[in-house]
Amino acid sequence: MLKKRVLVTGGAGFIGSHLCERLLKEGNEVICVDNFYTGTKENIKHLLSNPYFEILRHDITFPLYVEVDEIYNLACPASPVHYQFDPVQTVKTCVHGAINMLGLAKRLKVKILQASTSEVYGDPEVHPQSESYWGNVNPIGLRACYDEGKRCAETLFFAYHRQHNLKIKVARIFNTYGPRMHLNDGRVVSNFIVQALKGEDITVYGDGSQTRSFCYIEDLIDGIIKLMNSDDSITGPLNLGNPDEWTILELAEKVLKLTKSKSKIVFKPLPEDDPKQRRPDIEKAKKILNWQPKIDIDYGLKETIAYFKKILNL
Ligand code: NAD
Ligand code: UDP
Ligand code: UDP
Repeated sequence: MLKKRVLVTGGAGFIGSHLCERLLKEGNEVICVDNFYTGTKENIKHLLSNPYFEILRHDITFPLYVEVDEIYNLACPASPVHYQFDPVQTVKTCVHGAINMLGLAKRLKVKILQASTSEVYGDPEVHPQSESYWGNVNPIGLRACYDEGKRCAETLFFAYHRQHNLKIKVARIFNTYGPRMHLNDGRVVSNFIVQALKGEDITVYGDGSQTRSFCYIEDLIDGIIKLMNSDDSITGPLNLGNPDEWTILELAEKVLKLTKSKSKIVFKPLPEDDPKQRRPDIEKAKKILNWQPKIDIDYGLKETIAYFKKILNL
C-alpha cells in the first residue's frame, strides 16, 4: 500500500499524540508539528524510534512549508486554564494558525481537517446541540479567545472551501478524556482523578448541576479518522462526542467510587461564562460516518485512572 504522508499539528498534545499513533499503525508516514506549548515529548517518545515518524518544533502562527498529502489541524491549547493564560496567543493560534495551514493545504491541493469544538455553541440555549444551532457565545468574555477563535477558524475553513475549492473537514469535538491528558491542565476529568488519587479535596465548581458529555479518546480518534476519509462532498461541521450526559457532581461521585478514594467533595465558585449544559446530537455522524462511541464511561475512567496512577508513581 502506498503510504500517505500526514501532517498533524498539535501532535504532541493529548488528542494529537493518539492520532499520530493511530495513523502510524495504519501504515502512514506522520509529520508531527508542535511548539510544546501544552504538549510534551513524553506523549510521543514511544513513537520517536519509528522511522516513519518525524517531529518538527514549530509554531503554526508562522508560515510552514512542507510537502504532505493530508493535514489534521489540532494545534491549540484546549483547557480553559491553558487557553486563558495567554489569550492573545490563543487567538493567533486559532486564526493565524488556521490561515497558514489553509494556505499550505491550498498550495498542495490536499484535504485539511479542523479540530473545532463544542465551545462554538457557547452556553447553549438549545439542548442537545445539533450542527444547525448557531450558538450563544459572549464575544468579550474570558472564554472568547478560544470560542471566537475557533468560530473564526471555522469561518476561514468555509471561506477557503468556497473561494478556493479546498477540501475541508470540520469536526466539532465535545469533551474528550483519556490517558495523556495533561496532569495540571485544570480540566474536570484530570482534576478529579488526580485529586482523588492524592487524597485531596475534589473541587466541584458551582453546585455541580452543570452537565457535560464525556467521550473516550479511542472513540474520538475513530470518528476523526472516519471523517477525514469520508467522501470529499462531506465538509461537516460534524459533532463528535459521546451523548451520555452527566452532571459534574455525578462525575465527582463516580471518580470517588472508582478510585476508592476518601477525598471530600468541596464546592468552589463557578468560572465566568461556564456553560450550564452540553450534550452532542450525533445523528449526523451516525448517518454519514456510521460512527458512534462504543466505550462506556466506567471503562474509560478506569483506563484514565490507571494512567494517572502510573505517572504519579502510585
Ligand atoms: P492539548 O493542549 O493537549 O494539545 C494541543 C497541542 O497543540 C499541544 O501539543 C500544544 O503544544 C500544541 N500547540 C498549541 N499552540 C500551538 C502553536 N501555536 N503551534 C504549534 N503547536 C501548538 O489539547 P487537546 O485536548 O489534545 O486538543 C487538541 C485539539 O482538539 C485542540 O485544537 C482543541 O481545541 C480540540 N478540542 C479538544 C477537546 C478536548 O476535550 N480535549 C474538545 C474540543 C476540541
Ligand atoms: N502558507 C504556508 N505554507 C504554504 C503556503 C502558504 O504557511 O505552503 C501561509 C502563508 O503565510 C500565507 C498563508 O498561508 O500567508 C495563506 O496562504 P494563501 O495562499 O491563502 O494567501 P496569500 O499567500 O495570498 O497571503
Ligand atoms: N469543573 C469542576 N471542577 C474542576 C474543573 C472543572 O467542577 O476542578 C467543571 C467546570 O466548571 C465545567 C466542567 O467541570 O463546568 C467541565 O470543565 P472543563 O474545564 O473540563 O471543560 P469545559 O468547561 O471546557 O467543558
